[in-house]
Amino acid sequence: MIKISNLHKSFDKNEVLKGIDLTVNAGEVVVIIGPSGSGKSTFLRCLNLLEEPTSGTIEFEGQNLTDKKTDINQLRQKMGMVFQSFNLFPHKTVLDNLTISPIQVKKQTKEAAEKKATDLLAKVGLQDKAASFPSSLSGGQQQRVAIARALAMDPDVMLFDEPTSALDPEMVGEVLAVMKSLAESGMTMAIVTHEMGFAKEVADRVIFMDAGIIQEEGTPEEIFGNPQNPRTQDFLSKVL
Ligand code: ADP
Ligand code: MG
Repeated sequence: MIKISNLHKSFDKNEVLKGIDLTVNAGEVVVIIGPSGSGKSTFLRCLNLLEEPTSGTIEFEGQNLTDKKTDINQLRQKMGMVFQSFNLFPHKTVLDNLTISPIQVKKQTKEAAEKKATDLLAKVGLQDKAASFPSSLSGGQQQRVAIARALAMDPDVMLFDEPTSALDPEMVGEVLAVMKSLAESGMTMAIVTHEMGFAKEVADRVIFMDAGIIQEEGTPEEIFGNPQNPRTQDFLSKVL
């Protein structure tokens, strides 16, 4: 579904991504771990062109994203993104947060968009919050709304950048549970997280990034049980 080849990204003289090669297959859950500052967010942001790659290619569903002719807006509809900060529209209800893009961008009818939004809110356990405003919700609830909002666009892949890092500890589990059920439903997902238990349980493949390259990748058993790269070993010894 996604094929990244020799991806480089520099900010001025700071080379943050130094040649990333990665293929993500349909239905696969790839979890990206690594120290702060290693380029994980930059990498995810390059995937949906929130950052412009300096060089290299990204193919998504057979389309070359780095080609200037690619319609970025159409592409973004196919890639849902969930950030650490929930980024909900504060002056809109939960239901409106979920329906605004399907109505405005995908030209869905209000009825169809609201039907879908209601189903999605039920899926994330927030059916009773449709008329609430984001500020009245807990952080965990807001992040579940953000996930439902991304899903409302019917993406083919979901990108998550530390979706639980801004949450109080008691709310982390409810968000991870929603992500786990999404993974079990067959969604293709790329997830940056520090939740190693979640990574072990849900990942098909774990990527360890450090210093702008993929240092090691493998199954959760391989990466957590028998890491080969000294950098992976050192990182895991600090976080596990
Ligand atoms: P991570 O998500 O792994 O913590 P980031 O991708 O956020 O790492 O950052 C990697 C490096 O890229 C850092 O040195 C950071 O300062 C730099 N960086 C990220 N975004 C920008 C930007 N928009 N402008 C300049 N430097 C940036
Ligand atoms: Mg980051």
